[in-house]
Amino acid sequence: MKILFLDQSGKPGGAELCLIDIAKPYGDRALVGLFADGSFKSLLQQHQIPVEVLATQPIQVYKSSSFLKGLGSLKQLIPLIIKVVKKAREYDLIYANTQKALVIGALASFFARRPLVYHLHDILSKEHFSQTNRRLAVTLANRFASLVIANSQASQTAFIQAGGHRDLTAVVYNGFEPKVYQTCEFEVRRLQHKLRLEGKFVVGHFSRIAPWKGQHILIDALAQCPPQVTAILVGDALFGEQDYVQQLHQQVAALELETRVKFLGFRSDIPQLMATCDLVAHTSTAAEPFGRVIVEAMLCGKPVVATKAGGAMELVEPGINGFLVKPGEPQELAQIINLCLHQTENITIMAKNAKYIATQRFDVTNINQQITQLLASKFNIAALNHS
Ligand code: UDP
Repeated sequence: MKILFLDQSGKPGGAELCLIDIAKPYGDRALVGLFADGSFKSLLQQHQIPVEVLATQPIQVYKSSSFLKGLGSLKQLIPLIIKVVKKAREYDLIYANTQKALVIGALASFFARRPLVYHLHDILSKEHFSQTNRRLAVTLANRFASLVIANSQASQTAFIQAGGHRDLTAVVYNGFEPKVYQTCEFEVRRLQHKLRLEGKFVVGHFSRIAPWKGQHILIDALAQCPPQVTAILVGDALFGEQDYVQQLHQQVAALELETRVKFLGFRSDIPQLMATCDLVAHTSTAAEPFGRVIVEAMLCGKPVVATKAGGAMELVEPGINGFLVKPGEPQELAQIINLCLHQTENITIMAKNAKYIATQRFDVTNINQQITQLLASKFNIAALNHS
C-alpha cells in the first residue's frame, strides 16, 4: 500500500515527530507532502523518508481564525489542492496528520477518489480552536475520512463532543523506540559539566515555548524551592510566541532566578538532556492531547510530574509511575519538586516502575502494528505489510 502523508508544518512539533515513526517503515512507498519548508523536512530526509514541500507559501489560517479569514485564504489554496490531487492519484491512501492537512486531504480525497485517514493530534476544544475550525474539522472528517486515529481518549472524546462520529474513531497512542532513551553515564556527565549542572537538583521542561505549555508556572514554582533546584527549559517558540519568551525572561529576572533557569532553545538531544535531570515537569495549563515528553521522561527512567488534564491523565497513574498536579498551580508543583528532592529512594523506585510500564505500553513496533491493522481492517486489505 502506498501512502501520501500530509502535514502542514515546516517545524517538528509532537505530531510531526510521531509522523516520522509512522511513515518510516513504509520506505519508498510513502511520501510526506509538507505545506511549509523548514527543519522538519531535513529531519524526514535524515530518516530516509521521501518528502516534498508541496506549498509555495505558508497557509495564512490559524487555530483561532474566523470563517471569513478561512474563506479569504481559499484562493491561495487552489494551486496546493491541484498539486495534492495530482500526487494523490499516485498513492492508495491519503493520511492527513494535521488540521490544515485534513482540509486539503479531504478535497484531494474527493477529487482523486482516494480514501482518507485523519490522525488527530489535537483536542478540538474551545481552549485550542475557534468554533469555525472545530466545526470544519469534524464536518470534513465525518464526510470524507474513513478512519480518525485519535492520539488519546481525551482527543477522541473532544472530537465526539464537537460533533464527530464515534464509529470513525480509534485511539492509538504515540509509539517510541525504547533504546533511543538509553544514555551512557559518560555522556550524562559531559552534558552536566557543559551546562554547569553538577551538584544541582535539575528539573527539566521539554516543550515548545508557548503560554499554554506553562513554562511560567515552573519558574514560579522554582522560586518556592531551595537554591540548589535549577530548571532547564528546552524548546523554542515554534509558532511565533516571541512575546511569551520575553515575558519568561522578565519573570526570571524579577524573581532573581537568572542562575537557576537555563533557556536551552530547540534541541535534538532530548534523551541525553533528560538523563541529566532529576525530575521532568510537564506544566500545560490547558488539556494536553497526548504529551510525548511525559512518556519520554518515563523511558529515560526519570520521575515525572504532569498536569491533571487531557491525555496526561491516561499516561500518569499518580504514585505508581509519576505525579499529577492541578494545571496552573505553581505551589502544588513546588511541593512535588520538594518531595522529590527529599524522598529520593521512593522516587527512584517509582521512576523504574514508570520506565518498565512505558516500555511495554508505547513500544513503537506494537503501536505501528496497531495502525497497520486498523488500515488493513478499514480498507479490507488482507496482507498490509511494511516490506
Ligand atoms: N522536543 C524536541 N526538542 C525540543 C523540545 C521538544 O525534540 O527542544 C520534542 C519532545 O521531545 C517531544 C515533542 O517535541 O517529542 C513535543 O511533543 P509533545 O506531545 O510533548 O507536545 P506538542 O509539541 O505535540 O504540543
